[in-house]
Amino acid sequence: MEAEHMGADLQDILFTEEQIQERLAELAQQVWADYEGVHDKLLLVGVLKGAVLVMADFMRALPGSAPIDFLAVSSYGSGTKSSGVVRILKDLDADITGRHVLIVEDIIDSGLTLSWIKTNLLSRGPASVEICTLLRKPESLKVEIDVRYVGFDIPSAFVVGYGLDFDEQYRNLRVIGTLATHVYS
Ligand code: 5GP
Repeated sequence: MEAEHMGADLQDILFTEEQIQERLAELAQQVWADYEGVHDKLLLVGVLKGAVLVMADFMRALPGSAPIDFLAVSSYGSGTKSSGVVRILKDLDADITGRHVLIVEDIIDSGLTLSWIKTNLLSRGPASVEICTLLRKPESLKVEIDVRYVGFDIPSAFVVGYGLDFDEQYRNLRVIGTLATHVYS
């Protein structure tokens, strides 16, 4: 779905496809260099559903092979504010004991979801758990959370596209943009 297909529902384009790909390629190079010597123990964990597109492009930008797994947790429902309530809807298939887990995420808003997921994964005996997120809203953070890899810091507006939805819509939008207020008010 192109930006023009959204008509008046899209307010501004924050990142084009090219900007997203360029930044993910940089992050992938950095990650591969940082995990030198332990590539065989690296496991990429995506958080469904939003991180699907980030995972697809990030993993292909890596200069070597890395297995992936997915986790699904309850999140916003159809609203635009984090409830802070996290529930595992789909757990990992893999045993992460002794492995270097890199969580691949689309966006960190309050940080509550990721903070909970990180603590949960750390309790399973991995060698390490780090976070790579395409987007982060620094002004919205409610918990202290160590995020090793950040694509872009953005203001606290609600964004859609590139995997990010509003009420399950717009995940297939190619760009990342802000939603016009008339859509959710
Ligand atoms: P947090 O717990 O950090 O507040 O929220 C994490 C989850 O909320 C994200 O994985 C994402 O699903 C959703 N979320 C947070 N901010 C946005 C946003 O601006 N747009 C969309 N579509 N989802 C968001």
